[in-house]
Amino acid sequence: MNRPPPADAPPAGGNPRDGALLAELEQAAADPARTADQRTLLSRAASAVRGARDEALVELRFREVVENVQQGIVVRDHAGLVVYVNSEALRMFDQRPVANAPFPGGGPELMFVDERGHEVPPERLPSALALAGNCPAGPQVLGMFDREARTLSWVSVTAVPHGDTGNGRPRFVMTFYTDVTGLKRDSALFARAQALASIGGWEWDTGRDRLYLTREARRILGRDPAPSDLEGLLECLLEPDRRRLRQAFDAAVQRGWGFGLELQGNRGGRPFWMRIMAEVGAHGPLSARITGTIQDVTRQKQDEETLRVQARTDPLTGLLNRDAIRAELAERLADPVQRALAVLYVDLDRFKTVNDVLGHAAGDRLLVAAANRIRAVVGCEGLLARLGGDEFLLVCSLADDPDRALRLAERILDSFRASFRVHDEEFAVTASIGLAIAPEGGTEAQLMIQNADAAMYSSKRRGRNGWQVFTPELAAQQQRRLQVETQLRNAVGNGELTLYYQPQVDLASGRTVAAEALVRWNNPALGAILPGEFIDLAENTGDVVAIGDWVLREACRQLGRWRGRGMALERIAVNVSYRQFLTGDLPVRVAEALEEFGLSGDMLELELTERLLVEDVPETAEAFAALQALGVRLSIDDFGEGYSALNYLRRLPIHGLKLSQLFVQGVPGNESDVAVCEAVIGIARSLRLGLLAEGVETGAQRDFLVQRGVTLGQGFLYAPGLPADEFEARFGRSAPVT
Ligand code: C2E
Ligand code: MG
Ligand code: MG
Repeated sequence: MNRPPPADAPPAGGNPRDGALLAELEQAAADPARTADQRTLLSRAASAVRGARDEALVELRFREVVENVQQGIVVRDHAGLVVYVNSEALRMFDQRPVANAPFPGGGPELMFVDERGHEVPPERLPSALALAGNCPAGPQVLGMFDREARTLSWVSVTAVPHGDTGNGRPRFVMTFYTDVTGLKRDSALFARAQALASIGGWEWDTGRDRLYLTREARRILGRDPAPSDLEGLLECLLEPDRRRLRQAFDAAVQRGWGFGLELQGNRGGRPFWMRIMAEVGAHGPLSARITGTIQDVTRQKQDEETLRVQARTDPLTGLLNRDAIRAELAERLADPVQRALAVLYVDLDRFKTVNDVLGHAAGDRLLVAAANRIRAVVGCEGLLARLGGDEFLLVCSLADDPDRALRLAERILDSFRASFRVHDEEFAVTASIGLAIAPEGGTEAQLMIQNADAAMYSSKRRGRNGWQVFTPELAAQQQRRLQVETQLRNAVGNGELTLYYQPQVDLASGRTVAAEALVRWNNPALGAILPGEFIDLAENTGDVVAIGDWVLREACRQLGRWRGRGMALERIAVNVSYRQFLTGDLPVRVAEALEEFGLSGDMLELELTERLLVEDVPETAEAFAALQALGVRLSIDDFGEGYSALNYLRRLPIHGLKLSQLFVQGVPGNESDVAVCEAVIGIARSLRLGLLAEGVETGAQRDFLVQRGVTLGQGFLYAPGLPADEFEARFGRSAPVT
């Protein structure tokens, strides 16, 4: 295209003839043959020629530069007409003829728009502004929209006026165009990506303390005006996070360390969470600017918090769960200030029965009610959790109040005094509590919980509705119990059991009328163990059923053998656990044993504990009836020690009572023992029940009993339990014993 020179540009310079002329003039001016005036005129002419030559050289170089820069350059005269366009400008404007247009793009094809897409009228373009105001205009970012090709490109435009026409207008205006289409596209994409990811960008000029924030960063911080320095940014945060960020920036400036922090801020009075990351260039000039990102992580934090709470909570009661309380306990035990503490293991008594009878939904309601009672007692004096089932755990500090644990234990038991109402029914539920107190009760979380559990278990065994503190002795007992339970499992199979026989004697004559079979256990690892230690455990584990079966058969076998040899023993008494009754097939077993060893029903006496009668399970009544049909005698062992509920004595086919040795021991000296013995004797007489006194050790006791009409007795006065052969040797002929 035609490329007009700027109107006031100097004429094209560099004419070779000028060089020769200059040399001639300089030579003539130096010629001594000429007059001084001639020489002065000639040297003036030479310097004029030299000046013109220099100007031409400058023009030449200017053109070279202007044609080679990466910017588009357009020169306009004082009237705004384009007088010069460099090649880059031609490329940018797509070779459009611009010569006669007042401004490039002022024609119908090109439209200039601002960053929001609004058209910029010709008189608002930088070149027009520079022309009108005679001062530089821009840089301004403008979009060039080609209406024909429907393309948009972006340029940064700066216009600079030059020279003075004398009437306040410049002689010409140079306008520089820089193509920023790529940059604009990248930053637009970046801004969009940032907004989508809720990530903002920031840059901090450390020397000038200037903070630059992207639009998304400003949105996240939510301050108007947006912070413009570091202090302003810190003000968006809550303490102690404000201090953390300040320290991080200090380390970034001084040591060149980058950082990544999650901080809590305040946005319009509401807390929010942001993640701020910083990258610091290598030490040196680049570290004068620290750049980074900022991200709104409030939602994630809330989600995490919800998950964290859910993971720590027991859904039924809203209390902490097992993992959470264990972690809390571990944390406290690790801290010397909080280490003085107690763990209370609370277990509801007989909850399983309620659950079985009423169903799980009612069981759950009972648990919630129980949790609420404990929670009300504990208040803010400790941390409460539900471990699962009907078990709760309480952790409380003893640092400020050494009695707190025991006081809370008492108050929890108190709170269970009133019965619970579920489905319009009243339920009396009590609790058993075990306490582990650091350090005797353990210094490690899991061990303390275990020890409190062991203490709870021990409290339960001693009778429910109480509390017990864990001690090392209790741990030893527990250990022993575990060993016994383990060994017990195979006691019958390994043939470790034997029976001893204790004579039951007619007190007046001294004649042995019967024998009680007492089980003995000899274990290779544990040695000889008395039934007082293992029968309770066997009842808990259920092993007592197998043991009882063995005892029943063995006792019947022994009596059968003795009677076969002509021994005048009327019957054998066998102790029976309540669990044997619950299996339902006890009468069948009894019938089988009697038949197998040729005995009639009245040759067998079953000794029952009061517990069986009080629990009053339907199966028991059937078993009683079946046993009565077999002719078997039924007696109540250790009568007087237990529940003293007498109504069952009328209801059930009981034949006799065994007066507990607990009271026989005290007669005739102890008044209250005398009273109890006389009362039991009275009951037996009025209900027409047989009576046998246990634990007769002295003649005085025997005389006391005989005087009050007790006919039968058993005790060390006659013999302890003896092995079968020894018993046979001593009482085989049933000679009277004195
Ligand atoms: P029990 O049925 O009341 O048996 C009497 C216990 O008192 C026996 O203890 C016996 O050795 C002891 N004894 C007897 N005379 C005297 C005396 O004059 N003074 C003292 N201080 N004690 C005396 P043992 O054999 O240790 O049995 C303890 C308990 O274990 C029994 O009490 C019974 O309840 C239970 N038991 C024993 N054998 C069996 C069994 O085969 N099955 C079941 N289920 N329980 C059994
Ligand atoms: Mg007995
Ligand atoms: Mg007894």
